[in-house]
Amino acid sequence: MTRYWAEHAWLGGDRAASGVLIEVRGDRIVAVARGEARDGAIELRGLVLPGLANAHSHAFHRALRGRTHRGGGTFWTWREDMYAVAERLDPDAYRALARAVFGEMALAGITSVGEFHYLHHGAGGTPYGEPNAMGAALIDAAADAGIRITLLDTCYLASGFGTAPEGVQERFSDGDAEAWSERASALRGAPHARIGAAIHSVRAVPAGRLATVADWARERGAPLHAHLSEQRAENEACLAAHGRTPAELLDEHGALGERCCMVHATHLTDADVARLGGTAICMCATTERDLADGIGPARALADAGAPLCTGSDSHAVIDPFEEARAIELDERLRSERRGHFDAAELLGAATNHAAIGWPEAGRIEPGAPADLVAVSLDSVRLAGAEPDTLLESAVFAATAADVRDVIVSGRQIVRDGRHATIDVAAELRASIAALLPGRAPGAAAAAGRAGGAT
Ligand SMILES: [Zn+2]
Repeated sequence: MTRYWAEHAWLGGDRAASGVLIEVRGDRIVAVARGEARDGAIELRGLVLPGLANAHSHAFHRALRGRTHRGGGTFWTWREDMYAVAERLDPDAYRALARAVFGEMALAGITSVGEFHYLHHGAGGTPYGEPNAMGAALIDAAADAGIRITLLDTCYLASGFGTAPEGVQERFSDGDAEAWSERASALRGAPHARIGAAIHSVRAVPAGRLATVADWARERGAPLHAHLSEQRAENEACLAAHGRTPAELLDEHGALGERCCMVHATHLTDADVARLGGTAICMCATTERDLADGIGPARALADAGAPLCTGSDSHAVIDPFEEARAIELDERLRSERRGHFDAAELLGAATNHAAIGWPEAGRIEPGAPADLVAVSLDSVRLAGAEPDTLLESAVFAATAADVRDVIVSGRQIVRDGRHATIDVAAELRASIAALLPGRAPGAAAAAGRAGGAT
């Protein structure tokens, strides 16, 4: 039994509690009591939150950070840069990069990641000797970093409506949905890893194959994710091909509802919003702003009954506080009004592990995994915060750099702002330099191509 004493802790509701004693046995919380004295327990100073969830990640996109801004460009030129990185990865390089990226997530207080994984095969689409070598590298990388992962194995079969994969996209494709299903069925979870499915987008999986992926997930009770309406061009191409919006098409083929999570959901009709009630929505605000995607209707979706979660997607930054506050702040910019979401709702989105298949996580209560994230109140950003409004201070002013201690399933992986086993900055530098030796992507210029999502 380990006893922690939190100076302040968020136990749900709209205020933090003070003096919270948290008892942990093995990987679970067994008791929580408020208003207690420290009494020899391990002290966690500042505001203690449940583990944060990163519901949408493509680990390799981290290599592009800061390298795609020069010269402006579009989503589609950014995608060419991203493909240039994808081309260079093999299982060893991917494990090295991903363990550093997941290490960066751990430092930011993220205890579970949903990895939307589509880079399956070797050059030209030739499978590795172990067909799931890339997925296994990601599962191992999460173990190295000490966080949980849901590997959302992604079906990707087409470059656009009726067009075959080309270039590096061949590495994403299994050829047909049955071959995807067979390969994905061979993936094995672990105590820190669960397996889910993903439809890359309505563009990348032909309509007649959507149900194969949806049924695979349903039969296993596994999460099913999809990129949805990130770009207007995707909506237009879907309407032209099928006479339906992407949300209508996914609904028709059983890919919405319980256990399903739609990523972005930026350009929706009112009917789409109503249809998405009961389906989780992953807002990826820092990626959406980075790629000039637009602002999704977060309040309308939440009002329709869609649970929100957050994801750092392309890893323009990895900062769950920034993702959470952006949901409210983007609505303010659009509406010229404040007060769409309160701090507790935003924290609820940032701690939504259910959307990636860990419904038991994300709360400080008996029975939950022992995930504790201590946010320092000593930095210049939070100095002077008052106990009554600590949640607001954390959500609207903290950054990932304010996370001091992180415990995942009872194991401390970040102590005083340092990862316990990984020199994260050094490993990021080394693995990115190995991938992009002396080269800054940004030269690509393939504007105006339809389809695609981050
Ligand atoms: Zn994405």
